[in-house]
This record gives sequence, structure tokens and C-alpha cells, in this order.
Amino acid sequence: MADLANPQNTLAVLRKYGFTAQKKYGQNFLIDANVLEKIISGAQITQDDCVLEIGPGIGTMTQYLAEAAGRVIAVEIDRHLLPMLEDMLSSYDNVTVIHEDILKVDIDRLAEEYHGGRPLKVVANLPYYITTPVILKLLQGGAPIESVTVMVQKEVAQRMESGPGTKDYGALSLAVQYYAKPEILTIVSAGCFLPRPNVDSAVIRLRKCDTPPVEVRDDKFLFALIRAAFNQRRKTLVNALTNAADLKVSREEVCAALTDLGLPVTVRGEALSLKEFAQLADLLSQ
Ligand code: SAM
Repeated sequence: MADLANPQNTLAVLRKYGFTAQKKYGQNFLIDANVLEKIISGAQITQDDCVLEIGPGIGTMTQYLAEAAGRVIAVEIDRHLLPMLEDMLSSYDNVTVIHEDILKVDIDRLAEEYHGGRPLKVVANLPYYITTPVILKLLQGGAPIESVTVMVQKEVAQRMESGPGTKDYGALSLAVQYYAKPEILTIVSAGCFLPRPNVDSAVIRLRKCDTPPVEVRDDKFLFALIRAAFNQRRKTLVNALTNAADLKVSREEVCAALTDLGLPVTVRGEALSLKEFAQLADLLSQ
């Protein structure tokens, strides 16, 4: 089996099938074997694992995953890639390719069907145009998932990992950190892809928490609060929250809750930790 993780072999396959990478599907194929090895070792895959790969492309990473894991389920939206995938993966009997949009896939059902309902490990070089909805589906959707090891745009990885008071901190940081422990494993330069994207990338591993790191009575309200706080990032928290119609909280209530927490009424959302947001949510949803 030819290793596809280099420019010559990737180009040869694309030419053979007359395939042109589609921007609308975020198709930037990995052509660097070192990066692939870092992803596979970072994902800590064993023969007991069932891996869900999002967007196998021409099957470059899928081949590495098939060697390391017991089973691989690869979900690809672009039907033009299916004949290539069939050829590239023909020597592996532990790979199933599913032609579907990952945002529509029932991941619970996949875990049930392919892994007896046990948690899956997700590994992907994600299409960047849907990074946030995919990450939120994987974390908030409640499907059995142990970890998510993915290539994303470098800035997005930094947002997932950052804490209060930094410019990258926001709703995505808080959502990710409520469900998982994020860790950037490596930065990847644009030259490791074909075609070359305009931005650098990073591999990040999100280890799902068994229980969230903070307790909160109503997590839906917590996330509505966080969304409102960062929708109007430059405003004080009091203004951002009272302007959000769906929260139905008054200026007096927000000021009183902030004072209870020992925070100034002029504070902005970007200064609050996840724990402080959870405490604020409990006070305001009473
Ligand atoms: N895994 C390959 C690699 O590393 O070379 C390809 C990665 S490429 C960045 C993203 C892949 O995701 C493409 O194959 C693209 O067609 C696929 N894709 C895009 N949107 C998708 C979606 N909604 N559901 C499933 N696959 C998708």
C-alpha cells in the first residue's frame, strides 16, 4: 500500500482520478507523515479502540488509523471521494466508509452498531468551515465519546485552550472546558497540506471529563448566559446580559449577583472563570 502522506503520492492519486480539491468542503489533504504520526500517537489509539474519522479525504490518515485501531468508521460528505477511498482502503477489513454529513450522523447509533455502545475516539483533520459546530456536537451531543483529537485552525485551537483575561477567551473556550480537558499537541505549518491553506493549524486533544469541572443547576441557562456575555464582548457584563431578551434578567438582579460574588458591576464577561459563570448562573436562575 503506497503511503499517501507525501506530495508526490497524493498528487498522483488526485491526477489518476481527475479530482480537484473542493474549497466548499474544506479539502486540504495532509502530506506530511511526521504530522500524521504525531496525531496517531497523540490520540493514544490501541487495538481495542473504535475510531470515528471525520472527512477521510483520499484516505491518508485512515490508513494510519486502520493500522493502529481495532476498527475505523470514516464519515465523508463528498461522494466523488468514495471510489478513491474504496481503492486506497481495499486492503483493510476493519474500515467502514459512510457517505454522510457528519453534522447529520447519529453518533450514538454508530457507537452501538460498531462498538457495542462503548465510547469512540474521534480523530480528524477537520474541514475548517464547520469546526465549531462539529466540536459542539461531539461534546454537547451526549454520544459516547472518550476523546477528540483533531487538526483545526491554530487560532481556534488557542481559543479552546485559553483562560479568562486573554484575547482568545470566549464562548468556545468555556463550552470546551466544561466538557473536556483541552491540550494543544503541536502546531502544523500550512506547507503540510495540499492545497496549502492560508493559515497555520494545530492538533488539539480534548479528553472528555466524566463529570464537568464545575457544578451548575441548569447548564442550558449557563450556556445562554455565556453566549450573551460574549455576543457583546466589549460591553460590561451587566449591559450584555440585560440586553439579551432570552435571559429575562434585570439590571438590579445582575448587579446584586455580581456583588454577591465579590465582582465589580463594571466587569466584562472575559474576566470571569467557568466557575464564576456557573455561580452567576445559579444566582440568576433562582
Ligand atoms: N483526512 C484527510 C486528510 O487529512 O488528508 C482530508 C482532510 S480535509 C481537511 C477535510 C475532509 O472533510 C474532506 O475530505 C472533506 O470532503 C470532508 N468533509 C467536509 N465537510 C464534511 C462534512 N460535513 N461531513 C463529513 N465530511 C466532510
